[in-house]
Amino acid sequence: MFDDLQKRLGTAFRRFRVSGLLTEANMKEGLREVRTALLEADVNFKVVQKFMDRVTAKAVGTQLIKAVRPEQQIVKIVHDELIELMGEADPTVRFEKAGPTVLMLCGLQGSGKTTTCGKLARMLANQGRRPMLVAADLQRPAAVEQLKVIGGQLNLPVFSEANSNPVKVCQDALVEANRQNCDTIILDTAGRLHVDDELMAELVQIEKKVKPHQVFFVCDAMTGQDAVASAEAFNKALELDGVILTKLDGDARGGAALSVRKVTGVPIKFVGKGEKLDQLDPFAPERLAGQILGMGDIVSVVERAQQAVDAEEARRQQERLAKGKFDLNDFRQQIVQMKKMGSVRELMSMIPGLNQLSGEMGGIDAEGEIKRIQGIIDSMTPLERSRPDLIDMARRRRIASGAGVDPSDVSGLVKQFDAMAAIVRSMSQMSMFDKLKALTG
Ligand code: GDP
Repeated sequence: MFDDLQKRLGTAFRRFRVSGLLTEANMKEGLREVRTALLEADVNFKVVQKFMDRVTAKAVGTQLIKAVRPEQQIVKIVHDELIELMGEADPTVRFEKAGPTVLMLCGLQGSGKTTTCGKLARMLANQGRRPMLVAADLQRPAAVEQLKVIGGQLNLPVFSEANSNPVKVCQDALVEANRQNCDTIILDTAGRLHVDDELMAELVQIEKKVKPHQVFFVCDAMTGQDAVASAEAFNKALELDGVILTKLDGDARGGAALSVRKVTGVPIKFVGKGEKLDQLDPFAPERLAGQILGMGDIVSVVERAQQAVDAEEARRQQERLAKGKFDLNDFRQQIVQMKKMGSVRELMSMIPGLNQLSGEMGGIDAEGEIKRIQGIIDSMTPLERSRPDLIDMARRRRIASGAGVDPSDVSGLVKQFDAMAAIVRSMSQMSMFDKLKALTG
């Protein structure tokens, strides 16, 4: 899978073999090739544009780690950004507390909808659910029969009705599911070769009358941007809860996998990797990015080197702190370190005593606050970061406009920082005993 993309990216990375620092100039050719590789893999044009902007900014801004070669570091940056593109993993199905949970699968004909209904039913049955499959695809003559065969293989009930209409089939299925004590209902709806109004009207009717709890769009990853365009059309009509990418085992080009999340905003939930019913996996962006690049070893080398650099940086920071030195550069570094360690809320939830606070912080956007602080510090010059007292009214305005905040936010931050720096200075003058006493109150 992703063979062509992988080959093209491999060629592009070789262009980054420069001696010395990566600069915008010497990266130009390599970056152009990464861009072409993505476009040829049928990734959405706008998505590619944003992706390249982020990769370039990160690469130029990154301090090169001596232990790894520049092109290896580029591989890692591209790897991380691919993960970002595909969105976070959330391969879950929400279940209703009362009554059966109704899941509706939709998609174009041939996308793998009927097969995926079976795969999903199998996965949920293995998790202890009691699914019922519902044959609401009355368009494709063989679909009902196909679903019955799948149900037979899985030993799960399949509901169908002759001479009926899709809404009635689904409504009657709900009654039957209750009677048979099934707690999960999977609707296999009709598809067409192309998006058309009649199909959408039928699906909207089902959504209105049957009120499925979640709607998943089954997306053929081999069809690249076409798949993304139909995902968009379905999402407009139905408000999708998730995307299931199929045929990732074939010669999927990457376009659908890499664009669908950014273009539609709908998360990828599961991926199909074969015709068999056990070939459905939870969506795992790291694994997929690894498969696209095929350079897992390089990524882990850079990660390890990065950790070593981080440890060194932390030691340097501690030394500065011990000497009572603490400026906005240090403060920014601390924030960057903290962000690397995970989300703030996640961090707080791991520390006893603070976990309660993290719950109480429900309404406060801690991540956003940190981003804001970092934005302000980033808009200062290095000199201003070490000597915030130099920031006058005019500079305060410039910094605020650079960071997209009010000038009063800049002074607020400097004030907070001054208070913190004073504590650091006074702590550095205390004996170890006094420090402990001060910290434990
Ligand atoms: P529907 O028209 O959307 O219901 O599509 P089907 O479920 O009938 O699937 C169409 C074809 O795609 C069938 O031949 C399936 O075996 C095949 N298919 C479905 N999912 C996958 C997958 O993940 N990988 C591969 N290689 N084939 C798949």
